[in-house]
Amino acid sequence: MFTIIYLVVFFGLPFIKVDGHPVFLLNVLKRKFILFGQIFWPQDFFIFALGMIVFIVFIALFTVVFGRVFCGWACPQTIFMEMIFRKVEYWIDGDAPKQKLLANAPWNTEKILKRVTKWTAFWIISFIIANTFLAYLIGVDELFKLVREPLSQNLGTFAALAIFTTLFFFVYLWLREQVCTVICPYGRMQGVLLDRNSVIVAYDYVRGEERGKFRKNETRTIGDCIDCNQCVQVCPTGIDIRNGTQLECTNCTACIDACNHMMDAVGLPRGLIRYASEHNIAKNRPWIYTTKMKAYTVVMAVLVGVLAWLLISRTDVGITLLRTPGQLYQEQPNDQMSNLYNYKALNKTFKGKDIVLKPENFEGRIVIVGEDHLVVPPDGTTAGTMFIYLPKKNIKKRKTTLKIGVYEQGQKITTISTSFLGPFTGN
Ligand code: SF4
Ligand code: SF4
Repeated sequence: MFTIIYLVVFFGLPFIKVDGHPVFLLNVLKRKFILFGQIFWPQDFFIFALGMIVFIVFIALFTVVFGRVFCGWACPQTIFMEMIFRKVEYWIDGDAPKQKLLANAPWNTEKILKRVTKWTAFWIISFIIANTFLAYLIGVDELFKLVREPLSQNLGTFAALAIFTTLFFFVYLWLREQVCTVICPYGRMQGVLLDRNSVIVAYDYVRGEERGKFRKNETRTIGDCIDCNQCVQVCPTGIDIRNGTQLECTNCTACIDACNHMMDAVGLPRGLIRYASEHNIAKNRPWIYTTKMKAYTVVMAVLVGVLAWLLISRTDVGITLLRTPGQLYQEQPNDQMSNLYNYKALNKTFKGKDIVLKPENFEGRIVIVGEDHLVVPPDGTTAGTMFIYLPKKNIKKRKTTLKIGVYEQGQKITTISTSFLGPFTGN
């Protein structure tokens, strides 16, 4: 069920729109990112960076506590392989023994037909996956536009699409679990992250050994493992879980299902292969929440807290205000002095913003050149120049820090700071 939801979300997300705008877009080329309907600009990159750190720590914590659960349940490589490509392969080539027979068979009509069908199906699915990733990058509207336009106008995009389709095709046709065991860096970190308290897919050797074939109506005096080899047969990475935890195990749980099936068949209790820690099995001890796990949880909670605060306190409008380079101060009539500034405002929503700037910690005036107030277009930016005027009597230092309130429809949304340069006064 989880994997079905996962696939529906993966293939459906680029099509979901709110008020005509995608809820998810990762346009790296245009540096435009929309997550859950919220626009993120490159200026919000630090939130992304922190989000990535939280994600990595989260995965590490999960691995310490629950082993390689991510690989078996959330990694797109496993989900696509097990839920799509392997299923298609079974429909076309038959189950594992039939596949072996076909692989060893001479190139007769049946083999050629099956191979061509499988490769075509794999290629089409790879093409759909590559297009879905492209939809995440450029949005479905742009993707459909590309499809309608002549090929000659978008040769670069189609070349990239062809390369990624070919890449997926070879990964799922040939590389398969070698991605997990040889290429994926996360897989190679397991030895460092796992300890004897980590919950993993494990064989209960205390109960299972000494293994031996099952004979009907026997009174079993040896271990519960009936040495049927089903757990090895179904393992996509070809390992024998009875030899202990191995780097190649992706926690896909296929061996658990196969073993439970055999246990049911011979009337023995299920769970000879199950989720358990080494300590659970060796010492018959319940799972414990170790100091290492507690430390990881604290780090995780702090990082999630900071990330949540950054997201909550993120404003809809971002404004930068910098003194115009090369300008000092200007003497003005009525005992006033001014500084010239360059401003840039960006709107992180799909609605236009009318922004008013008000002095906060100073008596003075803010004059936007050519405008009464800032009008920032939806999902866009505006830039220009403005003056800040201060009475001379209030300028006590060479550099005064000014705070400016940013208001929208009478509501203050944030405060920005800048400096005001006056004549040298010895301070
Ligand atoms: S079948 Fe079992 S041993 Fe093989 S990868 Fe899956 S969980 Fe690991
Ligand atoms: S499936 Fe279970 S009973 Fe059969 S060999 Fe594997 S561990 Fe033993």
